[in-house]
Amino acid sequence: MYEILFLGTSASAPSVHRGLSAQIVLHDEYRFLIDCGEGTQRQILQAGIGFKRLNRILITHGHLDHILGLAGLMSTFSRWEAIEELEILGGRWALERINDLLFGVVLRGARPPIAIHLREIQPGVIFAEGDFQVTAFPVQHRGPDCFGYLFEEKSRRPFLVEQAEALGVPPGPWRRDLVSGQSVRLPDGRQIQPDQVLGEERPGTRLVHVGDVGRVDGLVDVCRGADLLVIEATYLEPEADMALDFAHLTARQAAELAREADVAQLILTHISRRYRERDVLAEALAVFPATWIARDFDHFQIRRGECEKIENSRR
Ligand SMILES: [Zn+2]
Ligand SMILES: [Zn+2]
Repeated sequence: MYEILFLGTSASAPSVHRGLSAQIVLHDEYRFLIDCGEGTQRQILQAGIGFKRLNRILITHGHLDHILGLAGLMSTFSRWEAIEELEILGGRWALERINDLLFGVVLRGARPPIAIHLREIQPGVIFAEGDFQVTAFPVQHRGPDCFGYLFEEKSRRPFLVEQAEALGVPPGPWRRDLVSGQSVRLPDGRQIQPDQVLGEERPGTRLVHVGDVGRVDGLVDVCRGADLLVIEATYLEPEADMALDFAHLTARQAAELAREADVAQLILTHISRRYRERDVLAEALAVFPATWIARDFDHFQIRRGECEKIENSRR
């Protein structure tokens, strides 16, 4: 199960209702801030989620509307006891710019008051712990080293309690070992195999986040069957030529990707103030019915095959 909290859903410049790109993905005790547009720290406060454990930041690319908030956030973190370390992961070009911003502008030679780790990533697994992992994959936008992120729970086989009861497997270490895939010998001497008490493998929940992107043809495989796809929709079809020029998507193109990859739900973000929200939604809905348009402070819960808006968490 994942949650995603949208902190900023506007494209390029903020609007009255939308801040610049930022969202938090939550899984168990883990939190990942994805992008950090200008004003993100205030959005975090307004959402009421707090700064605790918010020490891992994934950057999709180095455009200013996705990174400028890091300067203010770091400045605040440096006076905040709760955060001692900050890890920022992204492509080389984004990290070079972030390095200039943090060390050239904010610190200007001063010693960082908290440990800041800029971690350059390559396509592949960038985080794995417990029952899930995060994979970075390349996306095509203006400039090199742009990445999308796949959050993926491990697939698992459910324990069939009734089967275990029928076989007389007592609760305790025998069941635990069977769940972990080991055969066991029962007190009465019988040998039980994991296959006798485990059901068919069920894939874990998958959430795909794509930031700014101009082409979707390379993304179908990574999105295939995802429970949720979050992706930009900066333009509408009448401005498809501008979308192409600036390497962004139209709502229709984003919805076509969702349809082709057979994802369960689609959330569009990076919404331009040139459009009315309902027009963006209508263009996507014509192609892919399970579409939402993200608003600032929208908070969704994602389980296998379902995505539920739990609240708009503005305080
Ligand atoms: Zn952008
Ligand atoms: Zn961009």
